[in-house]
Amino acid sequence: MTGSHANALAALAAEARRSLALLGEEPANWVPARPGIDHDVAVIGGGQSGLSIAFALRRAGIRRTTVIDAAPPGGEGVWRSVARMETLRTAKAPPGPEIGIPALTFQAWHEALYGADAYAALGNVPRLLWADYLDWFRAAAGIPVRNGTRLRRVEPLDGGLRLHLERDGVASTETVRKLVLATGFAGGGGPFVPPVIADALPRRLYAHTAEAIDFETLRGRRVAILGAAASAFDAAGAALEAGAAEVHLFGRNADLTRGTRMKNFGYPAAAEHFHALSDAERWRVMRLYRARASFPPASTVRRAARFANFRLHLGAGWRAVDSLGGDAVRIATEDGRSLLVDFVIAGTGYAADLSRVPELAGFADRIARWGDRFTPEPGDEDAALGASPYLDPGFRFVETEPGQAPWLADIHYHGYSGMVSQGRPVGDIPSLRHNVPRLVSALGRDLFLADRERHLERMLAPTADDLTGEEYAHAVAEPV
Ligand SMILES: Cc1cc2nc3c(=O)[nH]c(=O)nc-3n(C[C@H](O)[C@H](O)[C@H](O)COP(=O)(O)OP(=O)(O)OC[C@H]3O[C@@H](n4cnc5c(N)ncnc54)[C@H](O)[C@@H]3O)c2cc1C
Repeated sequence: MTGSHANALAALAAEARRSLALLGEEPANWVPARPGIDHDVAVIGGGQSGLSIAFALRRAGIRRTTVIDAAPPGGEGVWRSVARMETLRTAKAPPGPEIGIPALTFQAWHEALYGADAYAALGNVPRLLWADYLDWFRAAAGIPVRNGTRLRRVEPLDGGLRLHLERDGVASTETVRKLVLATGFAGGGGPFVPPVIADALPRRLYAHTAEAIDFETLRGRRVAILGAAASAFDAAGAALEAGAAEVHLFGRNADLTRGTRMKNFGYPAAAEHFHALSDAERWRVMRLYRARASFPPASTVRRAARFANFRLHLGAGWRAVDSLGGDAVRIATEDGRSLLVDFVIAGTGYAADLSRVPELAGFADRIARWGDRFTPEPGDEDAALGASPYLDPGFRFVETEPGQAPWLADIHYHGYSGMVSQGRPVGDIPSLRHNVPRLVSALGRDLFLADRERHLERMLAPTADDLTGEEYAHAVAEPV
């Protein structure tokens, strides 16, 4: 970055601080300290969600907080690792983590660096620019993140939760009153590799798109990709650009999904109030959405399809996969095709399976899923929806059996699979301005009510008079 760029960004950060001051924000912490509690709120995940939540908590006067991320600085989230597309899939610069502060928006950042004309000429936001912007947002908003620290386990305490953390192989514990899991896609259950691959191949012969893949090692090799959504096409593009000899992408449907119903969520009420619909209504919408869930954007498809050595196999789910010894893999499709390749990539998405999330081990079965709370009409069942956590409007986990684990209400889940309860994919850029204020309001309400006696005492306490009496003594009329 040049000196003038650095100056422009420093000036922008100063403008943001001034905006906050003009709004009269940055209130003092109002949450009474409790003996034995290290943090009133711990946010797990320093991606865009965690940053936005921490920023909003501070603005709400909840200041004894901490943000933890297992990744190194700059490695949070997906942007510099498993996201391989050239530009964001979201339309240019929707409001993001800044929640209402214009100087902290992506547009302000981009214009400060490159000018207003460059922003106007920009198509979709380049992925790595978005990652750079998030780094700047974190610094400009002043949000400390404890990188390299992983939440391993959560244990209920009287009046809070004990977090078991690990940093550089060293275990420690900290106590909190409220826990926010802003753990993204992985925090809902992890990558899903179908048994047809996982049961058939040694680990060195396949990868999931959610893993780091060294595409250089695929130069000159034949690659088969299962899945026809965005990440599968991104992996195809990356492999072809790295010089793979052939890339075959397989989708089970007769055609690609050509668009998403999620477009219909682009108006404020749908994002803001979806959670207030009945269970049956939310199921109906999400069921339709999932049927046309992830689709590959046109630029992603073109990126792969411009290569002559790219082949798209439609209507071709995989029936069997065999390792033939050495590096050869044979793929047999449901429709009778057979193909030899050297490496397999599963572009098969993520599982909604809380029992696979290490930090929830030991109590995942106590967390209500949609399947525990709602029985769809015959023919309308959907295992992935049924396995998604059933959250209340404040993003709290709900107990499977009421009364068995009431402390679950102190864990707020702001991860992807919360979308069945909340509407949009939780954590994606357009969701933040709707979800983060609601989440922070719920956290504040719970903290306030849990200390209601102390707050009542505070509100009812005698206050010093402002008037001395001297101001009006001379004007007081004598009684008649
Ligand atoms: C390939 C791909 C492309 C995408 N493209 C877009 C797009 O264009 N537009 C869009 O809006 N969304 C996109 N998304 C969705 C995207 O994941 C979210 O928008 C965004 O990353 C969500 O931010 P987040 O902070 O909620 O989660 P993440 O960015 O995933 O961050 C979660 C963080 O939690 C940390 N973490 C997880 N578990 C623990 C633990 N136990 N202890 C400590 N730290 C932990 C992780 O290290 C990570 O940094 C894409 C997703 C993928 C996978």
